[in-house]
Amino acid sequence: MSHQHGKHRRKGTGSGRPAPGRREESKTPASPPPAGDRPPSSALWAGEAERIAEAAPGLVGVAARAPAAPGIATVRPGWTCDLSSIDPDADGGLDKDEAKAALLVERERIKILQERLYAEHQRSLLVVFQAIDTGGKDGTIRSVFEGVNPQGCRVWSFKVPSSEERDHDFLWRYHAKAPARGMITVFNRSHYEDVLVVRVKDLVPDTVWRARYGLINDFERMLTLSGTVVLKFFLHISRNEQKKRLEARIADPEKHWKFDAADLVERESWDAYQAAFTDALTHCSTPEAPWHVVPANRKWFRNLVIARTIADTLAAMDPQFPDAQPGIAKLKVPD
Ligand code: AMP
Ligand code: MG
Repeated sequence: MSHQHGKHRRKGTGSGRPAPGRREESKTPASPPPAGDRPPSSALWAGEAERIAEAAPGLVGVAARAPAAPGIATVRPGWTCDLSSIDPDADGGLDKDEAKAALLVERERIKILQERLYAEHQRSLLVVFQAIDTGGKDGTIRSVFEGVNPQGCRVWSFKVPSSEERDHDFLWRYHAKAPARGMITVFNRSHYEDVLVVRVKDLVPDTVWRARYGLINDFERMLTLSGTVVLKFFLHISRNEQKKRLEARIADPEKHWKFDAADLVERESWDAYQAAFTDALTHCSTPEAPWHVVPANRKWFRNLVIARTIADTLAAMDPQFPDAQPGIAKLKVPD
């Protein structure tokens, strides 16, 4: 399994360029990064943030990004993503009970930092979840954001576009739901559907969906320049795990509501979806918004590493309470 955390990241080639087609060579977490690789650091992201800030002088301040939590594989900008090298069963050698206890800590961090982000009212966080059916998007959102003040958080699920949505450019409906200042917004499915299901089901011509990788990169770059940190997670489950989860939905009356016969048809396109995910993760991992591949067969591991990455990202953003009104300490509240 290849772990490419922030420490293995190197400066990307910018948005919209095709990956050079090199395969990720480090197969184990212990493997040294390829020669010429950049050292660990949020310093790298601080550098990127400066570069971005220079490009947009009116910007309030782009956050330095945190590296993803250990166990998550971050796709290096400009490199080809090789999903087959990432084990969906990986659990980082963690103990399940300890991981559950650690999750409580990460939730608390998210809760505290979210309040600051909301109070600061300058920047925002967009968390994108993509996965194959049964991949665990809903369960992750339920678990990771438990305890977050609902006032500062929005979750949007994207379904088959309505006729109104179809009458606009493909990004229209996503842009409309992008976070306002101070908010954490979660996309349960996202603009990536337009290079995933749309491609697999042949809903638009090749030339149309292919052009979208660059357009998506530009869109995310624009959001970043506007003070939104874009954090993207791909939940990576195995084909066999999907089978088990679909079987559970059939067997358990309390899960019947989740069962969709269309999922069985979609499962026949497993390989086509993996190919579509591979291309999306490859072409749309930019310095501004790289993809994070989360081993997701084990839910407790998935929840912990995602919560930790979100908490670390918020911590790197370091949101500040706004300055108090001058003289507030001397104010008296009348009886
Ligand atoms: P679910 O998330 O299980 O409620 O299902 C939502 C469905 O909407 C999935 O089958 C998606 O593939 C589909 N969907 C989401 N976005 C798009 C899109 N842009 N074009 C076509 N289908 C989509
Ligand atoms: Mg479904």
